[in-house]
Amino acid sequence: MSARGGLPHDILCKGMNMTLPTMETDFLVIGGGSAGCIAAMHALQIQPGLRVTIFEKSDITYGGSIARGMDALNIVAIPGRTDAQMYLEAIRAMSGGIVDAGPSYVMAERSYALLKEMEGWGVTFPTDENGQYKTLRYHVKGEFQTAMDEPELKAMLVQRALSRGARPVNRVMGIRLLTDGGRIAGAIGLNVRTGQLVLCKAKAVLIASGGVSRFTMPNSEYLYGVYDYPGNTGDGFVMALKAGAGVTGMEYTQRAMLIKDSNMPLLAICVTRGGKVLDCEGNVIMQGEVNNINAMNEAFTQGRGPIHIQLSHLPEEKIREIEHILFSTERPVNERFFAGRRIDFRRQDIELWPTEFYLCGGHGLAGIRVNERAETAVPGLYAAGDVASVAKQHLTGAFVFGEVAAEQAVSYLREEPDTRIHADQVEEEVGLHSRRFTAKGRDIDIHDLERKMRRMVADYLVSPKNAHKFELWKYWSGTFREDLRHVAVTNGHELSKVYEVENILQCADCSALAGDFRKESRWGECHRRSDYPQRDDANWLCHVVIKMKEGRLSAEKTRISELGEEVAL
Ligand SMILES: Cc1cc2nc3c(=O)[nH]c(=O)nc-3n(C[C@H](O)[C@H](O)[C@H](O)COP(=O)(O)OP(=O)(O)OC[C@H]3O[C@@H](n4cnc5c(N)ncnc54)[C@H](O)[C@@H]3O)c2cc1C
Repeated sequence: MSARGGLPHDILCKGMNMTLPTMETDFLVIGGGSAGCIAAMHALQIQPGLRVTIFEKSDITYGGSIARGMDALNIVAIPGRTDAQMYLEAIRAMSGGIVDAGPSYVMAERSYALLKEMEGWGVTFPTDENGQYKTLRYHVKGEFQTAMDEPELKAMLVQRALSRGARPVNRVMGIRLLTDGGRIAGAIGLNVRTGQLVLCKAKAVLIASGGVSRFTMPNSEYLYGVYDYPGNTGDGFVMALKAGAGVTGMEYTQRAMLIKDSNMPLLAICVTRGGKVLDCEGNVIMQGEVNNINAMNEAFTQGRGPIHIQLSHLPEEKIREIEHILFSTERPVNERFFAGRRIDFRRQDIELWPTEFYLCGGHGLAGIRVNERAETAVPGLYAAGDVASVAKQHLTGAFVFGEVAAEQAVSYLREEPDTRIHADQVEEEVGLHSRRFTAKGRDIDIHDLERKMRRMVADYLVSPKNAHKFELWKYWSGTFREDLRHVAVTNGHELSKVYEVENILQCADCSALAGDFRKESRWGECHRRSDYPQRDDANWLCHVVIKMKEGRLSAEKTRISELGEEVAL
């Protein structure tokens, strides 16, 4: 780990009996996935020579939601076919009206230029016999989903960021943002192998650390066997909250519907190409649309599950197209999985089950509150990708707002005065770290605690929800906080798990508060209250924003912004 322009750590950690490696950068990116890598790359494109550092919890070469490649850019407004206005209508319908127009509009408007830029990297977007991009029906209106065939997408992205000079700091998890008079000043990271802390002074910080994938347990009962990238544990949500930004959409608890025992993507790939979703009686419950998760959930609650995807009616050429995507671009392991289960799509259907719940601004609505400039309420702090609440923005949003954040950060760096690190904030974090790391006589296994906590989240915080369950959750939340003080930590890796579990718990508390606050049902199974079963637009066509002050959470209603209006941060 390099330390350029380091701070005098002996002053910063006075009384802590600990040396803290320090580094200084201009723009710190926390999370080296889709949004983080493109932001680093774009910032260096705008201003070559800028010091751009990326804290990445895993390894930048393969960390994040793009495990390898991806089969589609889910939102592209192709001129002459669709446009940003049409996208706004689609996304409003798909998000129960809880959408700030500005960010979604900006994303759609910049999406075609993004596609063209990606073509410049060498990414393939297949075309039909007339030379038109192949598009698919993913949204309720307009074919915005644009087929992509690029098994090396993550590698391309990383290579471009690094070749421009971005400095990755792998295996370092951002745990705390540092502020100076309310503006961002840097962050503290934790090495997830050694448990060592590192301080990074930075005038601008982008949080790009993904959603909360490990929110409830998946059916497989594997702690990390979740659909979204398992390293994403809501760290960014919590860091932002503590620094003074708001989070929103935390009551939108969504559930993945996945291949039995295998958390791999498949539903959208099959259904957009003609696959049918059937209940166990053979009734078609979805065809030609992808997002009717409610119809699929109903099949289960009414005893018509498990459900199946049928492809056997499709021509051979279509089945091969699906196999090509699943077995190469997405995850090659898919091929071995289906061979092992003896499933040939020409003859057998694919069994699907609802599995874990998660919080995410990419597929859902949960995330740090941002405006169309990717700004949060904290000057100098930006958020992009699944950690930010731009309704169902997917990969397009991660890329577009990664770039937007880079543009904003570069001009902020030019115009705003320097910030400084305050020793009391550092000492507070170092103190907590050393109490956790050095304590003896503790006996709770962090994995057991995580498992139990995620089970309770599933019992109390997801649909059907009601005030009684939210009240009961408070007891469990307090219990888990106490348990966290008794976790045995014998190495740096276990220590990082303590931070992760604490962040999942904090996100669960936000979800409980927001879920209890929103006294209506909305978004089907994502927020169904048995005590308030109706949607109530008169009172609840608004965001629920959670903020933290002196460690306490509060919820408030915030207006949905129209085009041309500022998003209230
Ligand atoms: C299986 C799957 C298939 C998908 N398919 C499509 C598709 O076909 N089309 C589409 O448009 N969208 C798709 N999406 C959505 C899209 O991939 C995501 O919206 C997007 O990649 C999110 O990017 P991100 O940078 O926010 O998060 P990620 O790419 O997940 O990156 C987050 C990174 O942050 C790191 N991190 C987490 N916490 C910390 C911390 N505290 N400190 C440092 N680093 C941290 C993680 O290790 C990770 O590398 C898919 C998503 C999944 C999961």
